Amino acid sequence: MLSGLFRAHGQFCASHPWEVIIGTITITLCLMSMSLFTSSEKVCGWNYICPHEDLQLNPDVKSSDLIIMTITRCLAVIYIYLQFRNLRRLGSKYLLGISGVFTIFSSFVFSMAVIHLLGNDLTGLDEALPFFLLLIDLSKASALARFALSSSSPEEVKDNIAKGMAIIGPSITLDAIVETLVIGVGTLSGLRQLETMCCFGCLSVIANYLAFMTFYPACLALVLELSRDRNQGKPLWQLQKISKILQEEEEEKKPNPVTQRVKIIMSAGLVLVHAHSRFSAGFTSSNTNPTLNARYPEQVFMDKQINPDLPLWQFYFFKLLTFNTEYSITLCLAIILAIKYVFMDDSVDREVQKLLQSHSDSSTDTNNESKSQSNGHVPVIMTEEDFKHDASFIIGGDDSDDSDYDSKEDKETQTETICDFKPLDLVKTSLPPRSLEDCLVTMKSDEGPNSLTDDEILMLVEKKHIPAYKLENMLSNHVRGVDIRRKLISENLLDKESLNKLPFMQYDYTFVEGACCENVIGYMPVPVGVAGPLLLNNKKYYIPMATTEGCLVASTNRGCRAIEQSGGAQSTVIGEGMTRGPVVRFPKAKMASETKIWLEDKDNFEQVQECFNTTSRFARLQRLQIAQAGRLLYIRFVASTGDAMGMNMLSKGSEKALNFIAEKFPEMEIVSLSGNYCTDKKPAAINWIEGRGKSVVTEVIIPAKIVTSVLKTTVQALVELNINKNLIGSAMAGSIGGFNAHAANIVTAIYIATGQDPAQNIASSNCMTLMEATGDNNENLHITCTMPSIELGTVGGGTVLPPQAACLQMLGVKGASLERPGDNARLLAEIVCSTVMAGELSLMSALAAGHLVKSHLKHNRSSLNVAAGPLSTKPSDTLKPPGTCTQSAS
Ligand code: NAP
Repeated sequence: MLSGLFRAHGQFCASHPWEVIIGTITITLCLMSMSLFTSSEKVCGWNYICPHEDLQLNPDVKSSDLIIMTITRCLAVIYIYLQFRNLRRLGSKYLLGISGVFTIFSSFVFSMAVIHLLGNDLTGLDEALPFFLLLIDLSKASALARFALSSSSPEEVKDNIAKGMAIIGPSITLDAIVETLVIGVGTLSGLRQLETMCCFGCLSVIANYLAFMTFYPACLALVLELSRDRNQGKPLWQLQKISKILQEEEEEKKPNPVTQRVKIIMSAGLVLVHAHSRFSAGFTSSNTNPTLNARYPEQVFMDKQINPDLPLWQFYFFKLLTFNTEYSITLCLAIILAIKYVFMDDSVDREVQKLLQSHSDSSTDTNNESKSQSNGHVPVIMTEEDFKHDASFIIGGDDSDDSDYDSKEDKETQTETICDFKPLDLVKTSLPPRSLEDCLVTMKSDEGPNSLTDDEILMLVEKKHIPAYKLENMLSNHVRGVDIRRKLISENLLDKESLNKLPFMQYDYTFVEGACCENVIGYMPVPVGVAGPLLLNNKKYYIPMATTEGCLVASTNRGCRAIEQSGGAQSTVIGEGMTRGPVVRFPKAKMASETKIWLEDKDNFEQVQECFNTTSRFARLQRLQIAQAGRLLYIRFVASTGDAMGMNMLSKGSEKALNFIAEKFPEMEIVSLSGNYCTDKKPAAINWIEGRGKSVVTEVIIPAKIVTSVLKTTVQALVELNINKNLIGSAMAGSIGGFNAHAANIVTAIYIATGQDPAQNIASSNCMTLMEATGDNNENLHITCTMPSIELGTVGGGTVLPPQAACLQMLGVKGASLERPGDNARLLAEIVCSTVMAGELSLMSALAAGHLVKSHLKHNRSSLNVAAGPLSTKPSDTLKPPGTCTQSAS
């Protein structure tokens, strides 16, 4: 309920920024002017500070005060510096700007208002300013800014600010209460100087809190709204990294309930302490805030010396000249830290930019160069250790121009961005690594392995302190892990530049880890073409095909055109069942036979089925196909698997069922969960005969005129060729399931595009293509394709990878079918089978018309290879743009 209240409050501030800003400023000014009127006797003018009677301090107290104030001021300056450093570490100048400026400014203004409201004058400010700075916590402001910056639309900004308020608000409120009460204890101390600071501290905490709850969310919403790209409506900042940080830290932001409870109990205790002290000691107006007016003798002296009629510039000039020791120390420290922050921290940026620049020099792309040079700000991770060592990593800024990536483009990317994820950019320092011991200490410290340089991590891998396969995991950064593994491998390659053209950036590895690939060194971009529309069961589909074979897509496209102009294909899934065929052994063949007979009994099968089905919500055991070879028994489990291809599901279910059978037949020995009787990824007649995965039949009748106009051949030629090649020819070759022209071409291209297991193209390409002349005068072509073992799925495996999922989405079969589990996978199988038919039509026609060789030489030979060869005489001939492609390989 409490967080709901804060959420509503945040939503309100973000939705009405102008109202909230103007409202709070108005109230602030009112408070200030009210207090100015009420305490006019204390503030004489902007260039004149009133003398006060109570300013005559005890000279004994002065020196200790001086030390306390100087230390406090120095601490405040260091604290603010560290806060800025911390924000910079997050790598966001937006966060830095928004959080820093607004928090300090608004807190200051609000503090002044509250102080005036309580009847104090401005003269106490300079005394307690350090204390005020110490109480500013930029991290809270940056946390809310992060919520806001993770939005992609104005509505989301409001929602996210509300969400941030809901999460951060209650804990900040509690913190403010606790801080006020704790600091308030200092006002009971009786020490004049301490009471001054604590009093001011309480007011600052309250003021900070008020600013955070009102002014800040409103300003944040407004700044983000104004910084939106007006033309495209897109935000001008780069969000990916911030939202990633946000995701990681969202959980952390949720307050720990135990801590919260301790704070509440502590507050209650402190309230009692305050109540007791105030009531017992009496609360007189004279000691409410006596110290806010406290001044040092020099200042009194100075004030008295300054003529109220002095012009402003002279007033401040005199003030500058009359700086005393404590001010000088603080000022010196502030200047040193400011110089360090601006120039020294920045010099590392420049060092890095130089590295980037030298890298980009090798590129001839002048556009990239200029972009790289124009990169204004590259935030740097710097630790104290880094400074000593002068070694660092760069993380990319929030700038959306990504110029830092460009200089590496030639090596790391070959394509446009294929997903939204923008990885961190890494640069190896040219300085030598720290010692192994130092690196180990750093790795095990809070800084973690990610704070080490690439060279240092390589050293730790080589010394076996970090396993190479665990790099991504240990660094909590996939791209960096991949990058370092590449460096590791490159060192051992004959050609150390080998990997330069294998891209690895701009890829979302989060879907790969633990699911699709290990020891990753990059990704393989394969061209994806589109064929279609394929008119199938009265719906049109555009088929993504990933291939490097020229002509394949164009040829399939021609087949699709012929099918579409003929009214479309019709297909049916006639069977379904993924299989796993373990092998078990018995002491005697007779025992194996008895077990086979037992399993074939309906009641016994149902027991096995029940056991199998417990392993999945979707896998359902349909039947067992059992074959005996002496003492060995091969049990082929056949199960429907919903929208998944199902191999993992079958393995899981079969293992459990086998253990159940083993309980009934203790003498049975499980030799292997896979006995090749499945049969997976190997040519086998069982899949061709019994089917595996989805069994599909598709057909179309192509009118004679389309055979002539689109396929450029005749029905008779096609029918005859089909008999001689696909039937008799394959029989002569002893083929199993290979009664087709090139089903594997289409199957594999679609499999790679849609994230299927490409090795399963073996059984999946089993296909019998039949062609008959049909019609009153046998003038039309009736073609069918029968594919009994299409092994595919729309969930699991590579289908989760975003580019592959995008291709599934193109076909409308991404993920699980919500209406009926398995519908998406069945439709995909029908699409595969019908596209195969399109490919068959086109290639068979090309062969019948005698176009194959001509077409392949023209369109399937790399002109680049020929041109680059030493014997090439006329490269220009080979670079002609391809014409209409009529055929593919067979
Ligand atoms: P999987 O990703 O291992 O399993 C599918 C998961 O999706 C299951 O957890 C299933 O839930 C869930 N699911 C959600 N909605 C579903 C739906 N509508 N239909 C079906 N499942 C749904 O995928 P798999 O197909 O079983 O295995 C594919 C992977 O196995 C591929 O990576 C392939 O390369 C690999 N493979 C393995 C072997 C092997 O021997 N193990 C052999 C060849 C290939 P439940 O948990 O309720 O079932």
